[in-house]
Amino acid sequence: MRFTRLTAAAGVLVLAMTSAACGGNDTGSTGEGQGFPAGSTMQRLVEAHKIRVGTKFDQPGFGLEGPGGLPKGFDVEIAKIIAKKLGIPYYAIEYTETPSTIREQVLQQGKVDMVVATYTINDKRKEVVDFAGPYYVAGQTLMVKSDNTDVTGPDSFKDGTKKVCSVTNSTPAANIEKYLKNKAKQLELFDSYDKCVEALKAGKIDAVTTDNVILTGFVATNPDQFALVGSAFTEEPYGIGVKKGDKDFRNFINDTLEEAFHDGSYMKAWKVTAGKYDPNDPLIPEIDRY
Ligand code: GLU
Repeated sequence: MRFTRLTAAAGVLVLAMTSAACGGNDTGSTGEGQGFPAGSTMQRLVEAHKIRVGTKFDQPGFGLEGPGGLPKGFDVEIAKIIAKKLGIPYYAIEYTETPSTIREQVLQQGKVDMVVATYTINDKRKEVVDFAGPYYVAGQTLMVKSDNTDVTGPDSFKDGTKKVCSVTNSTPAANIEKYLKNKAKQLELFDSYDKCVEALKAGKIDAVTTDNVILTGFVATNPDQFALVGSAFTEEPYGIGVKKGDKDFRNFINDTLEEAFHDGSYMKAWKVTAGKYDPNDPLIPEIDRY
C-alpha cells in the first residue's frame, strides 16, 4: 500500500481547525453541490437534498449508535465530508445500519447511495460493487481478555482447541481460517462485533479477531477488560462502496477524499472520533483510481 505524508502546512491547518472544532463536520449550509452532469448520481442527490448512507452501529470510533439513534464515528464523519461537497447538510443524511454481511446487498438493491463501514476493498467484492478510496488502511489483529496469556497471535489457534469470534462475510473471518485446525469447533461467527465482545466477556470464546482500529475502540470503551495481542497480520484498505459501474460517483468521491486529505477536514474527522482512542495519526493512503 502506498501512502503520502501530510505537508507541514496542512498539519498547521489541521491543528487550527481541530482546536476550533466543536465536534464533526456539522456545517449546515455549504453553497457547494452545483454543476454536476445531468443524469449523474451527484445531480440526483443534490436534487433530492439527501443522501442515504450505510454504516456500522456497533463499532466505537468508526460507527457507533449514539443517543437519539444517530451513529457517530470516523466513517460517519467521512460520509459528512462527501455529503457536504454535494451541498447536503449533515442533518439530511439518512443512515442505515449495515453490518458486514449485507454491505454488497444494500448497494446492489439500491437501498443506500454509499456504504462507509470499515469496508475492505478487495477483488472478490469488486465483482459486485465498486469502491472509492482507500481513505484508511487498517490491519487484522486479535483481542483477548486482559488476563489471557494463552493467545499471542494467530498461530495460537493452530492447537485446534482455542475459539475465536468474528463477523459473517468479513475479511477477518476468512483470513483467520488458515490458522484453524477445526473450523467448525473453533470459529464462532455473529452478524455484529458487539456480539463477539459479549461472548468474550462471558468466557465463551478466547479471542475476537477483526481490524486493529475496531478492536482498539472496544478496548478503550471497556476499560481494563480487554487487550490487543500481536501485531497486524493483514492489510485492510477501507473503501467507500458504491453501486457497480458508477464511475462518475466514484471519481467524485475520490476527488472529495483527496481534497479532504489536504484541507484538514480528514484529520479533523479522525481527531474527534477514532483518534480519541488511537494515538497514531493515520498515514494518508494513495487513492486507487482503478
Ligand atoms: N474491514 C473488514 C471487512 O471489511 C473487517 C471489518 C468489518 O467487518 O467491517 O470485512
